Amino acid sequence: MSLAQGRPYLAIPGPSVMPDRVLREMHRASPNIYEGDLMEMTASLFPDLRRVARTQHNVAIYICNGHGMWEASLANIAAPGDRVLVAVNGNFGQGWADTATRMGIEVDILEHGLHDSIDPARVAEALTADTAHQIKAVLSVHVDTSTSIRNDIAALRRAMEEADHPALLMVDCIASLACDRFEMDDWGVDVVIAASQKGLMTPPGLGLMFFSPKAAKVRDGLVRVSPYWDWAPRVDPQNYSQHFCGTAPTHHLFGLRAALDMIHEEGLEHVWSRHKALARALWAACDAWGQGGPLALNMPDPHKRSHAVTAARIGAPNASRLRQWCEGQAGVTLGIGLGMAPPTDPAWHGFFRFGHMGHINAHMMLGLIASVEAGLKALDIPHGPGGTAAAAQIIADATASPPVV
Ligand SMILES: *Cc1c(COP(=O)(O)O)cnc(C)c1O
Repeated sequence: MSLAQGRPYLAIPGPSVMPDRVLREMHRASPNIYEGDLMEMTASLFPDLRRVARTQHNVAIYICNGHGMWEASLANIAAPGDRVLVAVNGNFGQGWADTATRMGIEVDILEHGLHDSIDPARVAEALTADTAHQIKAVLSVHVDTSTSIRNDIAALRRAMEEADHPALLMVDCIASLACDRFEMDDWGVDVVIAASQKGLMTPPGLGLMFFSPKAAKVRDGLVRVSPYWDWAPRVDPQNYSQHFCGTAPTHHLFGLRAALDMIHEEGLEHVWSRHKALARALWAACDAWGQGGPLALNMPDPHKRSHAVTAARIGAPNASRLRQWCEGQAGVTLGIGLGMAPPTDPAWHGFFRFGHMGHINAHMMLGLIASVEAGLKALDIPHGPGGTAAAAQIIADATASPPVV
């Protein structure tokens, strides 16, 4: 007998759970795009977006997903034949590098495998070796959503300073913005990309670009910039439609307005702290289960884990069985594994991910954890006892102490 009827819960790393408040804001007739409320509302988004990325600098909104932002960011800083350095520890870092290659950009890859964070010393070494300063930018994901590893971006910037290299620092925060602490200006980041459907709790379709004056200068030095991806008119438009290079993404903007209100009403640091506490509850459950069975988290060091997505393995075909059980019997959908094995390899069925970004709270996390525990029992997958209880203890302790990030 299935017990899945009720509100479904998509616990994958994006698109994330959409708050009713976001959906309600979107449920409206088409607004006038030539004058009126929409213009004022749009103008109000930019300062609130800056606050989320912790920057005083430029922000542009695009109609696209994360892949679009990979291309948009590169289109503004490099021409074919230019060189970038990409530090990779998962599918998404590799994806950004592949986009650059397909744009005719020369790409140096610093491969870090699937189980460790990016080593700033290796980046410094590569930059020091580049005595001609050909590398225009260093690219890194903040969180690689496939491996769920979180990279130390402040340390990357320090390494670039040690190497005394003028390259831009560009960071993909698609899976981490409004989930994990991120300080664009304090950490010296020149370009940050994000998308609407993860920590920002808005449907897929909006891309966000934050860029420093230094990055703007690099853009101004290019002979030609793709007309759609060009960030210059978007941040300094002669008329409203130039913000979006055409018709505004009207309803997404209303949704984003509500999401930003929710984030700033809660307080960004509180949002980060909530993600951390809920992630720790999940990890405690996984640790307990792993004591008596095959479940293990991809990143052993909790300090290098994302607070928004957790990659795990449980041996083939148990991950696929567990995902199927959770969705069909309990109404909660877990994420597939990414980049750990090819989809045609039977081993692929041993990997999965928990998405825990955005609009989630203690009862959702505890429901997710207890459902997974029920699935482990129902499927006779060996696991240690006490996972749900361990998570409950973390949640109880977190509510008794001040927020920490
Ligand atoms: C989701 C994600 C992307 C890709 O975003 P799409 O909207 O699927 O194109 C890129 N980078 C990271 C880190 C992501 O989490």
